[in-house]
Amino acid sequence: MSDTSKTSGQASPAEKQTLGFQTEVRQLLHLMIHSLYGNREIFLRELISNASDACDKLRFEALDSPELLGTDAELAIRIDFDRDARTIRVIDNGIGMSREEAITNLGTIARSGTREFFGQLSGDKARDAQLIGQFGVGFYSAFMVAERVVVLTRRAGAAADEGVRWESDGTGEFTVESIERPQRGTEVILHLRPAEADADGDSTDSLLDGWRLRSIVRRYSDHVSLPILMRKEGSAKEGGNETDEWETVNQASALWSRPKSELTDEDYKAFYRNLGLDGADPLAWTHN
Ligand code: ADP
Repeated sequence: MSDTSKTSGQASPAEKQTLGFQTEVRQLLHLMIHSLYGNREIFLRELISNASDACDKLRFEALDSPELLGTDAELAIRIDFDRDARTIRVIDNGIGMSREEAITNLGTIARSGTREFFGQLSGDKARDAQLIGQFGVGFYSAFMVAERVVVLTRRAGAAADEGVRWESDGTGEFTVESIERPQRGTEVILHLRPAEADADGDSTDSLLDGWRLRSIVRRYSDHVSLPILMRKEGSAKEGGNETDEWETVNQASALWSRPKSELTDEDYKAFYRNLGLDGADPLAWTHN
């Protein structure tokens, strides 16, 4: 599966392992980190989509094993940021991952879409960068904006000491170690790259802003059927983002379940962009 393992033999459960990314992941990461791709904000769409899938998986497994939900039955996605620490966190209370799952899922490429993405790479930097937006290259797109990514996770149903900490700087390797984690689900922590403009002149600094993050959520993830929560902006406090109250920032209802009369042109356009086809507005649409 992975190319190299620096730990010899079987690692004991708590031991920290350093593992190499699969060659394709390494290529993908290299492209993502070095491409001049402008639309880096799509990383949030990808992480929200993973969080939403994780909640769907839990909901499905809970049909047979309702105890998996425990006392934490309200599935939601939280987005938080810390301007001083330069971090953005995407947190879900979905299915989570075991140590083995984290190694496989966040070290190799399984999804068919990404394989297709590879098939279409031409070697032309600008053209290949454009493909990133078209395909939406999943979890690894976090490295477009982050110089280091930490994932804290625990599989639903696993014991508190079966939590996992995954970390990588997106070059060749990642580490995994077992941790205590009281709650199930996954927290992805992005340590943003130093401010540096992308092809659109957009800097990572601009992402450390509640309004900007809200607008990205609404632009790409408004249709997600789970609540996406952010802290209420503390209007009185300088810098905002200080309150402990969370509010839903997406519409949290599917377009097709809402009456036609309620929908604006912008809703249809956002839905189309959410499909991640080409990042542009649709030419026309019809509501059935
Ligand atoms: P995709 O989501 O298309 O499969 P990704 O590269 O985005 O591809 O993610 C790879 C895998 O990692 C997912 O299929 C899933 O198994 C796992 N994963 C990613 N994010 C999460 C999460 N928030 N919770 C649980 N599993 C996750």
